[in-house]
Amino acid sequence: MVIIQDAVISFIEKIKSATRLHKLIAFAAVAVVLMFVSYVASGVRVTYNVHVDGKAVANVASHSVYEEGVKAAGKLLNGDKDSIGNTELKAVITVNAKSASAKEVGALILKNAASVCDGYKVTIGEDITLFVEDKAEVEAAIQNRLNAFNVEGAECESKFTAQVGVEQAYFSLKALSDSKLATDTISTLDVVTTAVKKTAYTVPYETVTTRTSSQLAGYIKVTKSGVRGKNEKVEEITYLNGAVTATNKLSDVVVSSPVNEVIVIGTGKASYNSAYQNASTAGFKWPLTVKGTITSYWGDGRGHKGVDLAVPVGTKVLAVKGGTVVEARYTSDYGYHVTIDHGNGVKTRYAHNKYNTVSVGQTVSAGQVIAISGNSGRSSGPHLHFEVIINGTRVNPAPYIGL
Ligand SMILES: [Zn+2]
Repeated sequence: MVIIQDAVISFIEKIKSATRLHKLIAFAAVAVVLMFVSYVASGVRVTYNVHVDGKAVANVASHSVYEEGVKAAGKLLNGDKDSIGNTELKAVITVNAKSASAKEVGALILKNAASVCDGYKVTIGEDITLFVEDKAEVEAAIQNRLNAFNVEGAECESKFTAQVGVEQAYFSLKALSDSKLATDTISTLDVVTTAVKKTAYTVPYETVTTRTSSQLAGYIKVTKSGVRGKNEKVEEITYLNGAVTATNKLSDVVVSSPVNEVIVIGTGKASYNSAYQNASTAGFKWPLTVKGTITSYWGDGRGHKGVDLAVPVGTKVLAVKGGTVVEARYTSDYGYHVTIDHGNGVKTRYAHNKYNTVSVGQTVSAGQVIAISGNSGRSSGPHLHFEVIINGTRVNPAPYIGL
């Protein structure tokens, strides 16, 4: 103390004898030294390095932070504290050291412990937990399984019936699973898919029937063609592993409405009776033993050159008037047919017969059976096709047979 006192006294003496400028410099120097010493002294502390398996991994301010850190690490390992390995604390003197928090210590311990793996926890439902090193294979397996049930041409969404999770986790190397076990398990999981599907479908038209006495009984004609409508429905379809389990209609929109078909049916009887009873202008009888159904008039379709009378196969075909058979043969269009020349340029033809019962050159009388009706040649159903030919030209037979 005496020496220090002497030194201070001699320092003061020196200052007294120093010039004004030198005094100022000396005071400033002392002030700077004092400020530096007090600054350094405030940051000097005893802290602790945390060692894991012999390696310093973090610095902490106190034992309790370290203990909290070990606890946190144990918690992240699902209570398997033993797997952390050897951890210890070593006291060190540090200046202004930046100390880690308990949470940071826990993570650093796990990251550096040789027996701990930094990987992923895969949870499947409530019962299965697997630990894997890499999540890429597991995530690919999840996507593959979900995509396996995509519905073509529909917006769809798939999910597992079980909760499936993949998250970062620290775990003991002992708990590490083969990733194949995880991918195999995922590839058998049940998948529920919901798809929103749009489907266009046709709507049938209705047939409206009008009856009129202004047409003969047997007259049937479509006066307005029916047009089918078009709708579009939107459905939500639910699948389990690709099999439909529920269908829920979300909407049904009319794209175009159907147009009704209109059919006119003749109910008139007087005209027919008179025709059958030979009251026609040309003195023709009816060409059949029954009334039949008039399915096509002159000019119907593509310029129909006769009248079609639908009758069952086997109905007798009769000569409407006496004359000479000038044609009795088969052709691909008329089938079996007979033509009779009645004289004065008038002929009649009877076609699509099952067979003819007369031959060329034969004389026939009115009402005589000349053929048995059928469906031969180019015919769309059993009927008699009847023609009237005047001077070599086919004309509308209607007035000749009282239609
Ligand atoms: Zn015809």
